[in-house]
Amino acid sequence: MNFDGWPKLAASCLYCGAPDCAIYKGYYIRYLACPELEFLGWIAIRTWLCKTYGIRFSLIPSFIARSKKFSVYGILSLQESYRLNKHDLQKAIDATMDSLDEEFYLPQASALRYLSYQCLPP
Ligand SMILES: [Zn+2]
Repeated sequence: MNFDGWPKLAASCLYCGAPDCAIYKGYYIRYLACPELEFLGWIAIRTWLCKTYGIRFSLIPSFIARSKKFSVYGILSLQESYRLNKHDLQKAIDATMDSLDEEFYLPQASALRYLSYQCLPP
């Protein structure tokens, strides 16, 4: 089955907009917790290079927060759980992680940073 959701980078570079500019540069892997999919593991993120500006960029799926090990939904769930648990951070973390079958250690410092995360529209 072919996936047709990738942007048409040959037609238009996502960075500068020029045709035939972006070239595939490989990928990097990231450990991700995604409670809504009950997924905990490594994912591959594709990277491209804008030849005009020499800038490398990533194609990050919309459900993943940039530079975070938690999905957008996971972060929003943590924020909601924090509010419902009357600002008890440990209870909020436990409630959010409940759907994951495996152990995932979420440091309180990371959880505190996620509480101030603001999801921007795509
Ligand atoms: Zn470009």
